[in-house]
Amino acid sequence: MTETDVAIVGAGPVGLFAVFECGMLKMRCHVFDALDMPGGQCTALYPEKPIYDVPGYPKIEALALVERLAEQAAPFHPVYHLGAPVTGLARVDGGFRLTTAAGISVAARAVIVAAGVGAFGPNRPPLPGIEAYEGKSVFYLVKRREDFRGKRVVIAGGGDSAVDWAISLSEVAERVMVVHRRAKFRAAPESAARLEALAKSGSIELVIPYQLHGFEGEDGKVRRVVVADLDGKTRAIETDCLLPFFGLSMNLGAIAEWGLNLDRNHITVEPATCATSASGIFAIGDIATYPAKLKLILSGFAEAAQAAHAIYPLVHPGEALHFEYSTTKGVPGRS
Ligand SMILES: Cc1cc2nc3c(=O)[nH]c(=O)nc-3n(C[C@H](O)[C@H](O)[C@H](O)COP(=O)(O)OP(=O)(O)OC[C@H]3O[C@@H](n4cnc5c(N)ncnc54)[C@H](O)[C@@H]3O)c2cc1C
Repeated sequence: MTETDVAIVGAGPVGLFAVFECGMLKMRCHVFDALDMPGGQCTALYPEKPIYDVPGYPKIEALALVERLAEQAAPFHPVYHLGAPVTGLARVDGGFRLTTAAGISVAARAVIVAAGVGAFGPNRPPLPGIEAYEGKSVFYLVKRREDFRGKRVVIAGGGDSAVDWAISLSEVAERVMVVHRRAKFRAAPESAARLEALAKSGSIELVIPYQLHGFEGEDGKVRRVVVADLDGKTRAIETDCLLPFFGLSMNLGAIAEWGLNLDRNHITVEPATCATSASGIFAIGDIATYPAKLKLILSGFAEAAQAAHAIYPLVHPGEALHFEYSTTKGVPGRS
């Protein structure tokens, strides 16, 4: 069985930065992710969106941030297991054994759970047969805005994602229609106001109060979306694609079976160390909770540093840890 110092469950931005922090303390890492690419929510949900609150970057696109984090982790030669959900976590002599659905088995002295919202997936609208259209003309996220250039787009939902993408896609799409069951949108007030202004100017059509009722199409291509008002009266809208934005389903999956103290689908941790209720297992990033927790990438970065320092004595027992700045220590291969 492969052995490592620290096994990190989740290759989101926070898991990636944990590789760097562990590396700086001479701890090797194996990183697992259920998705087949690193970056977690940043890559899977909003790769082209600019982030404005990562220290040192006044503005950085989510995918670019992930690339920088992977570059920062690279000198420490992490071993990535992508497309590999961790299903099993067992305590063994000297640490833990992690196993994946595909049968990969890695032994580690300590475990960092950086699993975000768990194995996440979209909340699907209850439209029979929609699976056959997913990834062809039904999308739960926008990977590339350009893919929608010149298209007729129906967006369903009333939250931030629906509103933000309606505004953004109105710049490239031939037509954007937003289906929502209420007149009021649950988005940031400035975004909701911008949406309404675009609707007034005719750049976006608001289909309210309606909800998705069905669709027509063939060979993976949606032709028409059928919507129903609150009295059940239906209307068909011609379209090239349907983007339902009904939020994420949060599914901790196997993590819920690992005997960790949970609070509403989050792992409770000791804030100073990010230690969970099980010794040797730490949790950081969106999945970790403690009083006044902020679910921000920057909070997750700090938690990665705290967890790495707390793990050091488990990996290097008896060796004193002298706190040092990166400017003093340097990074292997970096001048
Ligand atoms: C549209 C949008 C905009 C946002 N904008 C900002 C912003 O401006 N600033 C900001 O700070 N934050 C923002 N966020 C939040 C930010 O993306 C999250 O705080 C951040 O992604 C959390 O990082 P993480 O590494 O903890 O978890 P995630 O990014 O969720 O990554 C966790 C990873 O763990 C994997 N995983 C889960 N379970 C398992 C398992 N059992 N085995 C293997 N892998 C597993 C998942 O596949 C996932 O890749 C935004 C979020 C969204 C959706």
